[in-house]
Amino acid sequence: MDIGELKATVIREIDARYQQLGELSRKIHDNPEVAFKEKKAAAWLAGYLEESGFSVERGICGLPTAFRGEYGKGKPVIAILAEYDALPKLGHACGHNLIATSAVAAGVASRLAVDELGGSVLVIGTPAEELYGGKVIMAARGAFDNMDMAMIVHPGGGNRAIMSTLACQTLDVEFIGRAAHAAAQPEEGINALEAMIQSYNAINSLRQHIRDKARIHGIITDGGEAANIVPAHTAAHFIVRAEYDSYLDELKEKVINCFESAAKATGAELKYRWGERYAAMLNNVTMARLFRKNMQSLGRRIPLGDTTLWGGSTDVGNVSQLVPTIQPLVAVSSKQVWIHTPQFARAAASEDGLRRLLDAARAMAMTVIDLLASPETVARVQAEFRSGRQAKS
Ligand SMILES: [Zn+2]
Ligand SMILES: [Zn+2]
Repeated sequence: MDIGELKATVIREIDARYQQLGELSRKIHDNPEVAFKEKKAAAWLAGYLEESGFSVERGICGLPTAFRGEYGKGKPVIAILAEYDALPKLGHACGHNLIATSAVAAGVASRLAVDELGGSVLVIGTPAEELYGGKVIMAARGAFDNMDMAMIVHPGGGNRAIMSTLACQTLDVEFIGRAAHAAAQPEEGINALEAMIQSYNAINSLRQHIRDKARIHGIITDGGEAANIVPAHTAAHFIVRAEYDSYLDELKEKVINCFESAAKATGAELKYRWGERYAAMLNNVTMARLFRKNMQSLGRRIPLGDTTLWGGSTDVGNVSQLVPTIQPLVAVSSKQVWIHTPQFARAAASEDGLRRLLDAARAMAMTVIDLLASPETVARVQAEFRSGRQAKS
């Protein structure tokens, strides 16, 4: 079979499964499960892969709702990543039901390419993208070792084959002061709220002198107990983001200096803990071009995009530092409708949204064909990955 015929075959395979895939997407959308609680979604997705001939391992990396589906044995190994967690209160307002459906659709259709061309295709179920960075944990536990390339698509308000995201790390901070009557013995108190506010203001000042693309933002989660008690305890949660990992390290130090100086000024004790670290997205442009060409052959216009950053961060970034990765953005709503809103949750349940993400699934399976059929292309993908890592380190 030549490449063109094989691509036509994978397109037809997804057409034939349209009803089933639509049902799967709706079921996940109607049963939103937040980070690490995606029991139903993980079971439905893993089951669907198994019924379609994949060998499936559930609960990988010590995470009950993570899974690994595998079809074929040889190299190269191409992974398609699925996300299926919802947001608290908003449900599937990030459209992860569509990410999951497109991933299994692309995986199942890619079987035909593996039968014809060799290599293997994986569908990796990655929980908790939204709240904990499931892929950060999975990357540390080796889930993405021994694979050659990875792909995932994300629904959004626009189309872009390249989606650049920021490196980021969360920070939990506490100040411990000393309680006293705020009017009778204020001199006996150590004010943990003053320490927090001084830190907050110091960060505001710092923000004037950081690089354009960097971000520091936070909330105070504990501001004291009562107005007549000198606050003995305060807490805050911050996120620090930067375009490059090296600059993130530099910023982290500056942010901690803001807190430490406030601790010194007020006499409050500072405690802090850095949380999960999301790496910046390292896009593989060679793969993105293939995906774009395949989307366009299906009549979907999609610009390549550029290194203009989307202000957010994703744990796909951590995968992209280990293997050549793409995460194209596929429009399911107008530009005015942003992810993480109730309007976007509705778009993620729409028939039009499903059609668009299934076209993205077709384009991923067609990209699998391009890669399995051409060792030269794989070599180009790998060479770009190696040079990109050097450039950003
Ligand atoms: Zn999201
Ligand atoms: Zn998302």
